[in-house]
Amino acid sequence: MTHAEAAATHPSPAPPAACGRTRPANDRCPPAWLALGLVGLLLTAGAGAAGAQAEGVPIEARSPLTQARDVLASAEALRKAEGDALLDLKQIREAMAKPTPQQVSLPALRDEVIEPVAIAEMAREALVRVGWYYLCHRCDNWHLTLSGGYAIGECGVIAACYHSIDPDGRDDMREGYLVALDCERQVLPVRAVIAANETMDTVLLRIEGGRFTALALNDQTRPGERAYLLSDPLGQTGYFSAGMINRFYWQGRGRNQNPDRLDGVGQLRINISTDWAPGSSGAAVLDDRGNAIGHVKAISPMRERPTGSDNDRFDGAVLITLHEAVAARCVRLLLEDCQSQATAAPADATDR
Ligand SMILES: [Zn+2]
Repeated sequence: MTHAEAAATHPSPAPPAACGRTRPANDRCPPAWLALGLVGLLLTAGAGAAGAQAEGVPIEARSPLTQARDVLASAEALRKAEGDALLDLKQIREAMAKPTPQQVSLPALRDEVIEPVAIAEMAREALVRVGWYYLCHRCDNWHLTLSGGYAIGECGVIAACYHSIDPDGRDDMREGYLVALDCERQVLPVRAVIAANETMDTVLLRIEGGRFTALALNDQTRPGERAYLLSDPLGQTGYFSAGMINRFYWQGRGRNQNPDRLDGVGQLRINISTDWAPGSSGAAVLDDRGNAIGHVKAISPMRERPTGSDNDRFDGAVLITLHEAVAARCVRLLLEDCQSQATAAPADATDR
């Protein structure tokens, strides 16, 4: 039997905006940006003449959204307009520990198979990037970091990854506010955390304003079904890809749990073969009817574990890269629990 070992990594947020108090204008805050810059250069070198595209097709910029002047201007305008009304690091930390449940009205499950072109458009309208607008420890410029999220209900309720917004993982910020970005590049305030579950790497947030179309949750899927993903892998904005559901499995010590219960489903995962990378976290994976079947969580490049005499058969090369998604069943049960808690105790004054 061949053994393999995994080094799972979260597809973490896209790089923040340029840092600049004492550094050259073209220098960047985090080392990670160097790799992304190289990707950009390679893409530029390999690009041919501009081709034609249908009317209305967005043409993405080379640099990530976190660097876009209009997006940064929108974030700054929001900060100035909202002031203390934006939820900061401390408030989000408290809200994730003690969410404010609310009723959420959900869209109906779609049962008509549609063309991938239509799925791409649905994914674009459902994608709500979420992240921090913040000051780092090194300069006085405001930076923006974004990961994926997706609309799942009316009143601006979205799902995203717990790890993407967890303040405890962000010691690079000295001041920060949680914001969201809709498909029209407007930066929006996050008003509440309505549910949070670290085991299933899911938070449900309420956003105010913006334009997006909610996706229904489909938890009745099986291996072999088509899957589609629109996300921003490595800062490459709006990258759409297709694949299939590879398998359902238990992550960590979740085996033999009951996937029909909230206290059992937390580690239910799906491997899906669409393309993703750091920056894709939290983006919805869609079925061939435009429902969400899960969201991006992690990547596991796997090598053969050295076993002795034949331990270098593959010279340490990555043999398979598993893409780990949180199953829509997790989000559905978390949402149902949120709804029942809201019924028992209506939102109070801490919700704003
Ligand atoms: Zn900085």
